Amino acid sequence: MAARDVLRDVRPGDRWLAVVAHPDDESFGCGSTLARAAQLGAAVTVVCATRGEAGEPAEGCPDGDLGAVREDELRRAAARLGVDVELLDLRDSGFAGDLPPGALCGVPVADLAAQIAATAARLAADVVVVLDGSDGHRDHLHVRAAAHAALPDLDGVALYEHCLPNRLMRRWLAEMRELRPGTAYLALDPAALGRRDAEVTDVLDVASVLDRREAAIAEHRSQTSPFDGLSAGLRRAFLTEDHLVRVRAARDSG
Ligand SMILES: [Zn+2]
Repeated sequence: MAARDVLRDVRPGDRWLAVVAHPDDESFGCGSTLARAAQLGAAVTVVCATRGEAGEPAEGCPDGDLGAVREDELRRAAARLGVDVELLDLRDSGFAGDLPPGALCGVPVADLAAQIAATAARLAADVVVVLDGSDGHRDHLHVRAAAHAALPDLDGVALYEHCLPNRLMRRWLAEMRELRPGTAYLALDPAALGRRDAEVTDVLDVASVLDRREAAIAEHRSQTSPFDGLSAGLRRAFLTEDHLVRVRAARDSG
């Protein structure tokens, strides 16, 4: 018997686990995929490794404990998406530089993989979703590596990477260069942005959860949305279709 396609054929009672590094990864990244699964009846849990303390506060963000602010934003955004939240209580590694004590990137991949596998087993997950990390943030890449390392212990569980396809990222770069000429955007290589289109295995129509996604994005007030300033057409292209790479299909669940 062929395995059910758990990504496309979501059924009530399915259990999804998304593992992300920072508050906003779930909303700026894979939010529509998660909201759609929840809309179709899946129980979705976002495990967020850190509170995003090293994030860049948006203009007008009040001073204070950024981690507490961002945890609150995460919980509000999760409610908008219709998903549950758990935190691993690690520290945001930041994009570069020395690692703070307790940083996500300081946890060996094998240890983080064991935590992912244990969480997936506790939640009886059918599907695990991570970001593909092609933006280069070391925390995103670390979570992705750990999810791959967990595969042998994720018996029968499907693993997908959420990504942004190169064809959309080229349009994004063109608009950014127009919007902010003379900035670092000029130095970016269009061919290296996002995920190669040929590697995308699944394109999901997520237009039915656009309102939920927009509401979740808006909860992350302390952060600058990556979709701010884009043309209406490109914003819609980013937010109404999600792109995934199937690392491993579900073995079978009937
Ligand atoms: Zn992140």
